[in-house]
Order: sequence, then structure tokens, then C-alpha cells
Amino acid sequence: MMFDRLTDPDQHMTLVWTQLAFALLTVLGLSLLSAPYGRHNRAGWGPTIPTRWAWVLMEAPSFFMFLVVFVGTMPEPAAYPLLLLGLWLTHYGHRTFVFPWRIRVRPGDAMPAVIVLLAMVFNTLNSTINATAASGGLVSTWFGMHASTTWLDPRVWIGVTLFVVGTVTHRRADARLAALRAPGESGYKIPHGGLHEYVSCPNYFGELIVWTGWTIATWSPAGLAFLLYTAANLVPRALQHHAWYRATFPDYPNTRRAVLPFLL
Ligand code: NDP
Repeated sequence: MMFDRLTDPDQHMTLVWTQLAFALLTVLGLSLLSAPYGRHNRAGWGPTIPTRWAWVLMEAPSFFMFLVVFVGTMPEPAAYPLLLLGLWLTHYGHRTFVFPWRIRVRPGDAMPAVIVLLAMVFNTLNSTINATAASGGLVSTWFGMHASTTWLDPRVWIGVTLFVVGTVTHRRADARLAALRAPGESGYKIPHGGLHEYVSCPNYFGELIVWTGWTIATWSPAGLAFLLYTAANLVPRALQHHAWYRATFPDYPNTRRAVLPFLL
């Protein structure tokens, strides 16, 4: 019954519009203040959760909810939707179960529980609509590309290629950031190498490429809403990181941009 409602195009679009409202609120909120975690963490945001477990809690709905909704709404097993499932689970499997144990957390660092809760709510909604879009279960022709999809469809190979390129980009950047701190170290340094020579936040740049690829590969309003949300979240944060680097390190390379090489 729940899955029938999720595959109804009107109900689906209501959820997509809700997600777009999240994106609008996020960009408005982040234009007024920085999200209080990582280098922008500060007191006054209530109870906190240790950083590694905060990441696991925040991202777990993206993994499990997507899986449940995908299986519940998939009309019949088909190769392309299953490829999309694989891409999503690879991304969120890494983000939920691997990434939190790779970062070098400052001793005692913790995230406000309110941030974790908001992220869990958003990720539950986001994975629900994206799983419904990817499984091919939507009862409408213009939502999905699955019925008529062939492997030669340019949306398939352009979308999947961008997803993979973005994944390599953000994983390399995250690995470079983790390597900046030796075990036990807790300070910040100027990152060097790879796309760090061009932008302050190549990990966010990679993330934007991933969800651009996903939007093209799923050709769905849900994918586009997630891409817009990611931009609403990560572009202001990248600008805040960039300003922080420039204010903190007098020798910060002034040719670097915040998130889009040569542009922004
Ligand atoms: P950050 O770049 O702020 O931090 C990533 C890790 O690197 C943290 O452990 C941070 O430590 C450390 N780090 C960053 N810069 C330095 C430095 N100069 N010197 C030493 N250590 C450093 O990324 P986020 O934590 O915001 O995000 C992590 C991942 O999650 C990214 O890949 C991002 O793309 C993804 N993400 C995706 C979102 C989406 O909307 N799709 C939303 C949010 C994140 P510390 O925490 O102590 O600052």
C-alpha cells in the first residue's frame, strides 16, 4: 500500500516539491550562518553526537531506505535499474560504513544532534523519491526512461560516466584531506595536490559531478531535486571554507577558487 502511493506520480511530485523546499530553506539558512560542524563547529547547538557515529547515523537512511523502497517499487528485475541501484549503494555504502572511519577526527569532536536529525529526515525523503525514480516503478511515461532504455541511450553512458568520474574525484579529495593529519594530530593545513591546486573544496566539486551524473542517468525530477539540494548545501559551505582558508593562512594560494575550477 505504501509502495502504491510512492509510485503514484502526483504523490511522487508532492515529495519532490517538498525536497525542493528543503533546498530553498537550506540555501537561505546557509547564506545567514554556517552549518555548525567541522571547522565551523561552535557551542550553543544543544546535545552532540561523536563525529564518526554522527556520519553513520546521518547516512544510514540513504543506504537502507533506498534499498527497501527500490525493492518495494521495482516492477520486475531489469538490468539498468539494477545498475542504478549498484551505483547508489556503492556511494552510500562508502559514505556510511567506510568514510566515517577514514577521517582523522579531532579529539572530542562531535556534531550537534539537531544537524544529525535534520540530515536523517532529509536523507529518508531523498532516498525514497530517488529509489522510486530509479527502480522504474513510477506509473507514468515521462518520469522514467526505463521502459524504452537501451544501452546506447546517451543519457545512460554520459550519466554513468559522470557518476564514476565524480566518485573518483571526491574520494581522492577526501583521501588527501584525511592524509593531512598524522594520527593524533588535530590542526588544519593547506591542502596541496590534484584538484586542491584549483579549488578549496574538490570533495564538494566531486559530489556535484556525481549527482549531475545521477540526474542524467535517471532523467528524473527526483535526481534533479537532489542535485539542486546538494548545490544549495555545498556551494555556500565551500564559499565559507574558502573564506576561512584565506582568513586563516596568509600564504593561501590566491589563484584557487572555492568549488568550481576557474569559475567560483
Ligand atoms: P570537509 O571538507 O569540511 O571535511 C572533510 C574531512 O577532512 C574532515 O574530517 C575535516 O576535519 C578534514 N579536513 C578538511 N580540511 C582540512 C584541512 N585543511 N586540514 C586538515 N583536515 C581537514 O567536508 P565535510 O565534512 O563537510 O563533508 C564530508 C564529505 O561528505 C564530503 O565528501 C562531502 O562532499 C560529503 N557531503 C555531501 C553532502 C551532500 O549534500 N550531498 C552534504 C555534506 C557532505 P574537521 O571535521 O575536523 O574539519
